[in-house]
Amino acid sequence: MLAGSMTALSFLSAGAARAQGQLVMYCSVQEEWCRAMTSAFERDTGIKVSMTRKSSGETFAQVKAEASNPRGDIWWGGTGDPHMQAAEEGLTMEYSSPKMSELQDWAVRQWEQSKKRTVGIYSGALGFGYNTELAKANKIGEPKCWADLLKPELKDEVQVADPNSSGTAYTLLATIIQIMGEDKGFEYLKALHKNVNQYTKSGAAPAKAAALGETTVGIAFMHDVVTMVVDKAPVKVVAPCEGTGYEIGSMSIIKGAKNLENAKKFYDWALTADAQKLGAEAKSYQVPSNKNTPVPPQAPKLADIKLINFDFAKYGSSEERKRLLSKWDNEVKNLP
Ligand code: PLP
Repeated sequence: MLAGSMTALSFLSAGAARAQGQLVMYCSVQEEWCRAMTSAFERDTGIKVSMTRKSSGETFAQVKAEASNPRGDIWWGGTGDPHMQAAEEGLTMEYSSPKMSELQDWAVRQWEQSKKRTVGIYSGALGFGYNTELAKANKIGEPKCWADLLKPELKDEVQVADPNSSGTAYTLLATIIQIMGEDKGFEYLKALHKNVNQYTKSGAAPAKAAALGETTVGIAFMHDVVTMVVDKAPVKVVAPCEGTGYEIGSMSIIKGAKNLENAKKFYDWALTADAQKLGAEAKSYQVPSNKNTPVPPQAPKLADIKLINFDFAKYGSSEERKRLLSKWDNEVKNLP
């Protein structure tokens, strides 16, 4: 009898899920957090989610390539710059969520600057992590500044992502230019290139590589390094002494979404305090955008970090982003 009613129940809930329909989600944070969001939303709403995880720049390229026949409904997570570019290029839609009043000012500003096409969901500062055992073995002391990453002792010992695919690495590019000016900034990136062992696709990969002892230094968002520290890896998190940039991780509804009502449901749900708690549970320690979500105690304290006045509108503009990426390809990536 019990087995019979269980079968009937599973049949009913499968039917209910079907009735609620589908959602195609493009996710640009860490896989674990993407999966946690997907399962919780399915459980809360009965809507079946098909999720693809890719880095921020890669997802932008996919949304753009699919513009004439969009496959995705919602793009959740990843740095704000490609979300801003997508907004400007008309690849995403205006939406005003009833949850806007619960958000931090920086999250609302992102929405206003993008003409309501993208909204801030979290924030975090850029920095780097270093493996304390390798730092000792390589006699590099304790790196504290961006300038320290140019030391000859760090030849082939610095890892960072490629800014074309990774929002983290594009944040580095924009940060260095805003701190040093464009000419000196590119000189810095060319000098750094001599120490770079690999440009990875994903922005968080260098933090993991430093934790595993595959590189001495990994440039990444500080919260990505904290994830490694929480896992007891021998790494230290650094907020660079010259100051640093930060991201406003974002969310956008894709224009032409085939499951538009479900995309809006996800959007409203993802802005709730409860949904935003899932980040810390998946060991992602950003600062959440809903004012009622507790800031995870492990999250680097933005107030204690020397943050630059990051110009999100300029560095998220289509023209500037394309120009800087192509300049980086020509002047940095292709150097021997
Ligand atoms: N994962 C986390 C935890 C992030 O904070 C971010 C930035 O938004 C990303 C992934 C994006 O990574 P990528 O640099 O690969 O685009």
